Amino acid sequence: MDGNAPDPRYWEKMRLVAEVLKAVEGPIYIATHVDPDGDAIGSSLGLYRSLKALGKEAYWVAEPPRFLRFLPKEEEYSDPVDKLPVGATLVALDSAEPSRVVGVPVEGFVINIDHHGTNPRFGHIAVVDPSKAATAQMVKDLIDLLGVEWTAEIATPVLTGILTDTGNFRFANTTPEVLRVAAELVGYGVKLAELTDRLQFRPPSYFRLMGQVLSTVAFHFGGLLVTAHLPEEAKREEEDSDDFVGLIRYVEGSVVSVFLRKREEGVKVSIRSRGGVSAQNIALKLEGGGHVPAAGATLKDVDLDRAYELVLEAVAEELRRAGYL
Ligand code: AMP
Ligand code: MN
Ligand code: MN
Repeated sequence: MDGNAPDPRYWEKMRLVAEVLKAVEGPIYIATHVDPDGDAIGSSLGLYRSLKALGKEAYWVAEPPRFLRFLPKEEEYSDPVDKLPVGATLVALDSAEPSRVVGVPVEGFVINIDHHGTNPRFGHIAVVDPSKAATAQMVKDLIDLLGVEWTAEIATPVLTGILTDTGNFRFANTTPEVLRVAAELVGYGVKLAELTDRLQFRPPSYFRLMGQVLSTVAFHFGGLLVTAHLPEEAKREEEDSDDFVGLIRYVEGSVVSVFLRKREEGVKVSIRSRGGVSAQNIALKLEGGGHVPAAGATLKDVDLDRAYELVLEAVAEELRRAGYL
């Protein structure tokens, strides 16, 4: 089976998820992936607010990065848990692997809603549709099926997920349907200009860090690949370094960009591609996963030099497959 194919039973399964969530009387935990992005935070917070509006005992377990912390209110956070109570339901959102779910163990009745082609379809109900631009787009459908009344408080995080995963409607996943959904969400009172502005806010240290990161830019394979990394001395600024792969991907003539960050457990690699090259294939070679144009991996127990070697090998193989080398 092609993991990137749309789910033919999308609506049937989503209706089932809605029925299950409406019927549940016990606690519902909503969690998302480690290093959460706008889609992770937006889709999970949107669903959490919807379930609360239905009067459910819902818990939102997430730790948003600084640039998304304006979205939730203090009282909406729940602490991470080691064990779910008996009879609990877990909704895992935007999580390509069960091991990527953070803050809660993957147990109880598990509902997996995601759009990563590499998702192994874990859980009791798995709605995984890589044709969707964002998990937030899927959550929009779910909220409709739940019959919750749309408010700006619910629409804002949901639209955030769509905005961030489509690069503000610039990526190829921006279908007519995505634009229609976004238009509908804006109609519920989202302050779009304020939201997109706010999502780009970064602390002053970020702009200094950008200079350091840009000084590591290197070109490989005649400029087909552009790389950069977080300099060793800038490690404590790591929280703000998520965007840099999106910055270097605009080097003229490049088809792959890779940003590397050394962490305790290994080196985190963010990959973006275009022109028939698959970031997903590269990530899979590095035991990661993701989408065709945007994917990632964490290389365990390696230093930065070794990580570069592994990345160059994996990229070369994919460039050969795509006919560039
Ligand atoms: P990032 O480079 O972290 O922004 O990730 C790009 C895309 O790949 C996102 O959709 C991530 O959820 C996904 N991704 C990143 N790392 C991994 C991994 N180790 N396994 C599976 N998916 C990943
Ligand atoms: Mn994500
Ligand atoms: Mn996503």
